[in-house]
Amino acid sequence: MTSSGQNPEKAPAIYGVVGYPVKHSFSPDMHNAAFKSLGINAAYLAFEIKPNALPGFLKNLDKLGISGVNLTVPHKEIAFKRLRCVSDEAKTSGTVNTIKNSNGKLFGESTDAYGLLASLREAFKLTSLRNKSILLLGAGGAANAVAAALASSGIKTLYISNRTHEKAVRLAEKTEAATSTRCVAVPLYDKAVSMIISDVDILINATSSGLKLTDKSPVTGSALRKGLLVYDMIYNPPVTCLLKEAKKAGAKGVNGLGMLLHQGARAFTIWTGKKAPLSVMRKAIKGSI
Ligand code: NAP
Repeated sequence: MTSSGQNPEKAPAIYGVVGYPVKHSFSPDMHNAAFKSLGINAAYLAFEIKPNALPGFLKNLDKLGISGVNLTVPHKEIAFKRLRCVSDEAKTSGTVNTIKNSNGKLFGESTDAYGLLASLREAFKLTSLRNKSILLLGAGGAANAVAAALASSGIKTLYISNRTHEKAVRLAEKTEAATSTRCVAVPLYDKAVSMIISDVDILINATSSGLKLTDKSPVTGSALRKGLLVYDMIYNPPVTCLLKEAKKAGAKGVNGLGMLLHQGARAFTIWTGKKAPLSVMRKAIKGSI
């Protein structure tokens, strides 16, 4: 036995991130550093699983000896539909990004909203979101995962803007019904965004536009304003096309590395019951960029 009470002969507990593709993920570096620093006998891997193979993979999670997984694009909604036991946060968002396997019983959780809120507070030095107005770009998995949590944070208005406008309308209606916070769908083009921008304190990009260096920003600097806080959930590349446009407008921009950190820290605690070693995890992902 080691001083931490672990048996070195025992096989490590296996965790991992499931995505398609998944090679780009920083999660293995982050979680393996956390396990090592706390002396936990565990390994975190990357599982590249095609969407049609996900149900079979989840069904066999216990047989494969996997204690827990994170799910990333495009698996969060499929996983939610496949699990019988999920948290209230997962139910509200319709997504699951963390699964814990307890002796064959799978429990699904969504830690994205927790990660976003913790990162917003940290990045913009906010004690609360009370009475702020937020413009959320996107109506896909990530936007659905965070909309209700943002709207439940005492904010004044949640504006939602998406390339496919009907999806923004549906998300705004669903979120307003669930939270009683004013939610307004706004078409995703510069002129429409510039008409509301004076009422917006924080703009959050939850679209995938910006992942490629050739992508065009979902809004340009001409629609933004000085002093606006701009949060891009994308962290690789670290300076996205939106963050470049934000800088041109004199807005303060931050990428999504902090959200990755805090959603991962929450998952770590769900799996191990231990407080996540945040500074170790932060150092590991900063080294990945
Ligand atoms: P998703 O479900 O595939 O949704 C993609 C969203 O982006 C949709 O709203 C889509 O609009 C929009 N979009 C795609 N291409 C666009 C373009 N060229 N112009 C404008 N809008 C476009 O993906 P997701 O799961 O929501 O993820 C979205 C982003 O969040 C990804 O970049 C992901 O890496 C990031 N994310 C980061 C973290 C973190 O920890 N930092 C966590 C979760 C997600 P349509 O509806 O019109 O197709």
